[in-house]
Amino acid sequence: MDPTEQLRRDIVEIGRRLWTRGFVASNDGNISVRLGPDRLLMTPSGVSKVDMTPEMMVVTDLEGTVVSSAPGRKPSSEILMHLVAYAERPDVGAVVHAHPPISTGFAVAGIPLDRAVLAEVVTTLGSIPIADYGTPSTRELAEAVRPHLRAHDGLLLANHGAVALGKDLFGAYYKMETIEHFARISLVARLLGREHLLSREEVDRLQQLRGSYGIETPAPICPDPPPAATGDQSVCQIVYAPSSGGERLVPETPAVGGGAPAAGSFATEGGIRLTYGQLTALIDEAVRQFVGPQRDD
Ligand SMILES: [Zn+2]
Repeated sequence: MDPTEQLRRDIVEIGRRLWTRGFVASNDGNISVRLGPDRLLMTPSGVSKVDMTPEMMVVTDLEGTVVSSAPGRKPSSEILMHLVAYAERPDVGAVVHAHPPISTGFAVAGIPLDRAVLAEVVTTLGSIPIADYGTPSTRELAEAVRPHLRAHDGLLLANHGAVALGKDLFGAYYKMETIEHFARISLVARLLGREHLLSREEVDRLQQLRGSYGIETPAPICPDPPPAATGDQSVCQIVYAPSSGGERLVPETPAVGGGAPAAGSFATEGGIRLTYGQLTALIDEAVRQFVGPQRDD
């Protein structure tokens, strides 16, 4: 089969998987792949990812000019973000963007997926930071994403969704699956009230294993502590992993990042964390029981 035809079919298949998994609704999401040195194949705008057919895909150059398309078909409205990804990363062959609900929830909450929790994620993706908010389909969003693309294959878009980069189409798609799976596990751990982190020593060990597994990542994990509080996420990946003195797991959730345990949850062994409102309600209830019900309502 003509390799371009195969790529068209692969995009259709990945669109079907994105939709089936609930990673997109309506016409959300977009997928692209390199077709040689100066051509891209991209999903069309305005089509649900489950309703695509191979001939709908649009061929563009690396500036986004349409080279060929079926009548009336335009490339994805998010093409600028894809173009920036290819411009920044010559090693990237495909880009997948979607709105998976749990990772997008983290993006809405402003909580990056940057804690060393799962060995597989540390090894394959490192951290998954959040790019600043930019209006969808504009250059503003593409520029917000640009600095993070240099060192990351997966990132969240503030109040929007997630992006995954890969050597090829399925490589990018599988990273999108990993991002959402990681978000789901992180959410469950945080709902349960504790998140044991992998230690810095274990993270260093996993990073060394990347090579022997043949895993290529765009940048190394930042040394600890990461470069300043701002953290230059364009040169290395900030992964929160406390030093443990030889232990592989660190039992307490450290006070880092924006991801404090959920209010009202057990934060530490024998401890409970309450919001001010919850505490006030408890005091009101205790007073009510002590003085009896008030009669002024
Ligand atoms: Zn989007």
